[in-house]
Amino acid sequence: MVEVSPRDGLQNEKASISTADKIELIERAIAGGSRRIEVTSFVNPRTVPQMADAEAVCAGLPQRDDVTFIGLVMNRRGADRALATGRIDQLGAVAVATDTFAMANQGQSSDGSIDAAKEIVAAARDAGKTGQVTIGAAFGCPFEGEVAEDRVIGMARALAEAVPVEIAIADTIGVADPARVTSLVMKLRDAVPHVPVRVHFHNTRGTGIANVWAAVLAGAVSVDASIGGLGGCPFAPGAAGNVCTEDVLYMFERAGVRTGLDLASLIETNHWLSGLMGRSLPGMVAGAPPFPKSI
Ligand code: ZN
Repeated sequence: MVEVSPRDGLQNEKASISTADKIELIERAIAGGSRRIEVTSFVNPRTVPQMADAEAVCAGLPQRDDVTFIGLVMNRRGADRALATGRIDQLGAVAVATDTFAMANQGQSSDGSIDAAKEIVAAARDAGKTGQVTIGAAFGCPFEGEVAEDRVIGMARALAEAVPVEIAIADTIGVADPARVTSLVMKLRDAVPHVPVRVHFHNTRGTGIANVWAAVLAGAVSVDASIGGLGGCPFAPGAAGNVCTEDVLYMFERAGVRTGLDLASLIETNHWLSGLMGRSLPGMVAGAPPFPKSI
């Protein structure tokens, strides 16, 4: 599992979260067993003010050889910033499936975003790091509506030429359903069989956790999730939070899927984060009675 709360979770929050609190969130995630964490994004601070302290967050990251710190970047400039910190192990690039959302999210066409993502992956490799790509709006676009599976598969084939360590499909606005997830993950595995598949779901319409399960059964090997189910996208109207780490973990544990995460620890972090935000968070397991009682 990839913990995305420090980036996707916080980026849409109106109240400014201090750098120290972001670092504590990352430290708590590590204490709860997270070994891949999206720690920040290197984007224009005027468009995403919550991520303006990307370099400061990186400077405060704990020294851990066993944790992969991921920085999200949209272009070469962002990649250079991330690599210059010396603390980012993996660059996460984003290619968007539709022109309208690509323009809103990163100011370029869909094809332009593919080229940029390939350049970012190459920059990561040149620097001795790894790069991966997320295909945004893979299940639907807030502006254009339906997205054809063939478009996403075509993008994955093009992106695979840059040899990313992983390709993710993201349901940026939470419109996916398990049947489509099964179909798209299987087609992706057929199209780029040598590239591991990660999935990224938002729970805007309640299908998030069902989509995670469908994706894993279809062969996805990594799942993005956010402590408390925090999250959203400043460029996608109405987008709700990511699937909740504790909820996904509960499902996996009951199903015998091992993740290395510790549920009790993450529930404690949910309560801490909820206190920080001054409101209860969308995730459900942290508010439910423990089951079995020993947890
Ligand atoms: Zn997201």
